[in-house]
Amino acid sequence: MKDLSELQSQIENLKAEIRGAVESQSSSKGLYELKKSFLDSKQGKLSALMKEMAQVPAEQKANFGKAVNEAKQWALGFFDDIDTKLKEKELKLRYESEKIDISMPSVKQTGGNLHPITTVRNQLIDIFAGMGFSVYEGTEIEKDFYNFTALNTPADHPARDMQDTFYLSPEFLLRTQTSAGQIHVMESTKPPIKIVSPGKVFRSDDDATHSPMFSQMEGLVVDEGINLCDLKGSLDMFVKQIFGEETTTRLRPSYFPFTEPSVEVDVSCFQCGGKGCKLCKGTGWIEVLGAGVVNKKVLENCGIDSEKYSGFAFGLGLERIAMLKYGINNIKMLFESDIRVLDQIDD
Ligand SMILES: [Zn+2]
Repeated sequence: MKDLSELQSQIENLKAEIRGAVESQSSSKGLYELKKSFLDSKQGKLSALMKEMAQVPAEQKANFGKAVNEAKQWALGFFDDIDTKLKEKELKLRYESEKIDISMPSVKQTGGNLHPITTVRNQLIDIFAGMGFSVYEGTEIEKDFYNFTALNTPADHPARDMQDTFYLSPEFLLRTQTSAGQIHVMESTKPPIKIVSPGKVFRSDDDATHSPMFSQMEGLVVDEGINLCDLKGSLDMFVKQIFGEETTTRLRPSYFPFTEPSVEVDVSCFQCGGKGCKLCKGTGWIEVLGAGVVNKKVLENCGIDSEKYSGFAFGLGLERIAMLKYGINNIKMLFESDIRVLDQIDD
């Protein structure tokens, strides 16, 4: 049996427990959980007192129930008061944290720009498109036949040693030159042909001016009566547009298996105007590309009548053009994606 005074002291103990526990609450969420632990109709410590009704003498049951209900009412009010205060505090903190200082300077949004290689590629395409060239994009994985054999470089040809090739299998490789595209075009198109073919090429080569992956642009013209003068004329026009009106070209004899004759093309130094400077290593000339008259054997490999048609081809490195144009001395800078570097090149 329980009597009322025992209950009263139990209630007082619970009230003290509530006051103590509430003091350490700093969030309305924590307070809600605490409230449940006392007032939940099933597990709440205060609600549990009602279960003891059975042990109370009959004449005291009414007073017992009243006392428990009063205690619950008090607790509800107490929790509500604290809850209101905590929520006010939380709202104030939220307002503080979300406050916007409209006098603060705004965060600058910087616009991006195209990568220098993309810029150079686009400029070159524009220049050659203006001369009537169309764009052919080949594949990066190429058959040995298209990359070498059809370009007059059979398996035992010493020129193969000029390029360290990444072979995927005896038949397939990563193209070492965009020249491979020439063959595809000549196989599938009848002259007149006038294309440029830009794209990535791969060679096992790695230093300040070489990267295992770089970009080339191939040019090919095949028609009746095409000769070296047509090549020089086209390249003259191209270098003036890319390096400036004053720029001229110079051809030097060279060797590529797929052109005959072959030439290296130099441009007059656009920095010193030919007097000699660091960029042109004091010579007044800068080497920019390789070119030549398409070797008759290459035309014949593609089923083109070499008695009727002739052509010229050239291949240039886009990184080399970008490095010259923007004064970049290490090819790695073009691949490191350092925004501080790339931001300075906006053409
Ligand atoms: Zn110079």
